[in-house]
Amino acid sequence: MLMAMLYGAKDLRLERGDDPVVGAGQVKVRFGAGGICGSDLSYFGKGRVGDFAVMQPLCLGHEVSGEVVEIGAGVSRVKKGDRVAINPNQPCRVCRTCMAGKGHLCLKMNFYGSAAIFPHIQGVFREVIVATEAQCFVVPQSCDFRTAAMAEPLAVALHAVRRAGSLVGKSVLVTGVGPIGSLCVLAARRAGAAHIAVTDVADAALKRAEVLGIDEAVNAITGAEKVESWYANKGTFDVTFECSGNSAAITSAIQATASGGCVVQVGMLGVPTADIPVNRFVSREVDLLGAFRFDGEYGAAVHELAHELIDVSSLLTHTYKMTAANDAFAMAADRSQSMKVHLVF
Ligand SMILES: [Zn+2]
Ligand SMILES: [Zn+2]
Repeated sequence: MLMAMLYGAKDLRLERGDDPVVGAGQVKVRFGAGGICGSDLSYFGKGRVGDFAVMQPLCLGHEVSGEVVEIGAGVSRVKKGDRVAINPNQPCRVCRTCMAGKGHLCLKMNFYGSAAIFPHIQGVFREVIVATEAQCFVVPQSCDFRTAAMAEPLAVALHAVRRAGSLVGKSVLVTGVGPIGSLCVLAARRAGAAHIAVTDVADAALKRAEVLGIDEAVNAITGAEKVESWYANKGTFDVTFECSGNSAAITSAIQATASGGCVVQVGMLGVPTADIPVNRFVSREVDLLGAFRFDGEYGAAVHELAHELIDVSSLLTHTYKMTAANDAFAMAADRSQSMKVHLVF
């Protein structure tokens, strides 16, 4: 089988590897579509994500769907020919956080396409994937592979919404409308948000966000006056989803959030620390919450997509053959042109 292996920054090579063998409780899936995520882009562009550097050839990718081609002994929930979305989370289920019901915070997490541990956990940009039965979620045959692969980033957004608590009737701000911010908009609307404003520094991203059903789109640089008006009268929004991972946006998110509201930090910072206006959230009791990956929300995301309850079609901007993976990564890095870029074979 063919697979896309990263050897270091900007050094992605298509290689041939052995077809994986299916064991008991496992499912062999032929790659349908795989989305390029921000972490994939960081590995590709810099050879690392935060503290995690590529130390050995790494197959990227964790947003994937495909067709079941073989099942191992004991598998009963999926069958050959099924279309599935594959949950990249493989928590150990026995560590203390897993035992406490927070599998996404597993202390020994195996997550596809990650250099967090060595040897690295290989990813899914490959012709054939072997997953456990528990990772495979069946979608209707009518569900496009790219849509099914969106279950992973949508699960991130659903988890962020869950962290915020009820959004019914609330005013919401989303800072940074790349794929995750856009999915937070869709998830917030579906969760009952009454008013949704978004900010970004790229006009192209704001323009694309308009079709998501937002109420306001503001450029955080050219529209700084508008953003600052949100800071008056002890803040404006009940809930802010900070999806940019930019420290200026985090500061802005805290100030724009109303007293007693919350900021859910979804974006990861490119640096270890950020300067934040501590007194602004202490004196107004604005809760700062982290949101990381997802657990049960993966199945919920598949359900939303399979039943067309959340429409992600406007986010699917580009599709490339795996043989043109380098072009696909270049396009995914260009926010003026792309939103979510998918690879297919
Ligand atoms: Zn992702
Ligand atoms: Zn665990």
